[in-house]
Amino acid sequence: MNLLLGACEWYVRIVLEVTTKHVLVVEDEEDIQELVRYNLERDGYAVTTVASGEDGLEKAAATPPDLILLDLMLPGLNGLDVCRALRAEQSTKKIPIIMLTARSEESDIVAGLELGADDYVTKPFSPRILLARVRAVLRRRASAPTENDSPIALGGILIDPVRHEVKVENEQVQLSSTEFRILQILLSAPGRVYTRDQIIDAVHGADYAVTDRSVDVQVVGLRRKLGESGRLIETVRNVGYKFKDAR
Ligand code: CA
Repeated sequence: MNLLLGACEWYVRIVLEVTTKHVLVVEDEEDIQELVRYNLERDGYAVTTVASGEDGLEKAAATPPDLILLDLMLPGLNGLDVCRALRAEQSTKKIPIIMLTARSEESDIVAGLELGADDYVTKPFSPRILLARVRAVLRRRASAPTENDSPIALGGILIDPVRHEVKVENEQVQLSSTEFRILQILLSAPGRVYTRDQIIDAVHGADYAVTDRSVDVQVVGLRRKLGESGRLIETVRNVGYKFKDAR
């Protein structure tokens, strides 16, 4: 019996070690650092905190975490510099990043997303929101690492890239190729915010001259064609668009 209990404990410990996600928090404000640590640890994450961008880069390279929470306003190397450096380095380029930002840093949020950050949370934030974002980003990384051509069904919409077909509640809908591509991008990562530039790049390639405004026009048309489901394409004010993560 003791042997059996011992084996169970051993098994539980192995499972915990394998499944525990490690989060690196780069944040210079001590109270926020502690708030984040407390809540993440209570939710079962292993947490490392550092107070500068330089230390963040060093830790991330030494022991790559499963996710990085990155404050943008840091002394010395700022959050955008850190984001750029993380994405440039082979060992850290794929680590998901959630930026911690002030509401007034909208242009930095856009810049950060374009540098490859996965999401952002604006201060002050509730622990519940933070944990939901952390879980969503980790889930997205686990389930959809790359774009592919598999059909996606979500919120009453079915998109089939191979057949170039979209159905809403089983009724076929005719989309332009640009509308189709925008829908495909947004649906491939529900909950992820895409900036207008990221959408333009994904639709036409980085050199194509399309204005931000034309993305907005495309989205208006797309929403209309999708009927009720069109409401699932949400505008993120001053940042871009996302497909509502309803899972
Ligand atoms: Ca700060």
